[in-house]
Amino acid sequence: MKNTDLQVKNQTMETFLQNEYIVRTLIKGAGGKCELCGKKAPFKDKNGNPYLELRALEKDFNIKKEEIEKKIVALCPNCNRKLDVLEDPADFEKLSEIAAHHDY
Ligand SMILES: [Zn+2]
Repeated sequence: MKNTDLQVKNQTMETFLQNEYIVRTLIKGAGGKCELCGKKAPFKDKNGNPYLELRALEKDFNIKKEEIEKKIVALCPNCNRKLDVLEDPADFEKLSEIAAHHDY
């Protein structure tokens, strides 16, 4: 069941991730730092941009374009995985708060 959820999630995220502009804007907006632990991206991608992973905070993906920045956060790979492993509500709460203040 969980895997199915994940697949749906990834597929939908793909549509966002295919939009290079949105991806760049969100990662740039995060200042190249993970929005959970605050550390710098662990490495740069092939284009020299900080590598962070984008994660949607809601399972409902009927997101209006202008709301995207309020629903997606940029995370280092460790924190992104940590959310999956621990599912700590405090982490999600913190990220929702941060995302709500995005103004890119
Ligand atoms: Zn992190």
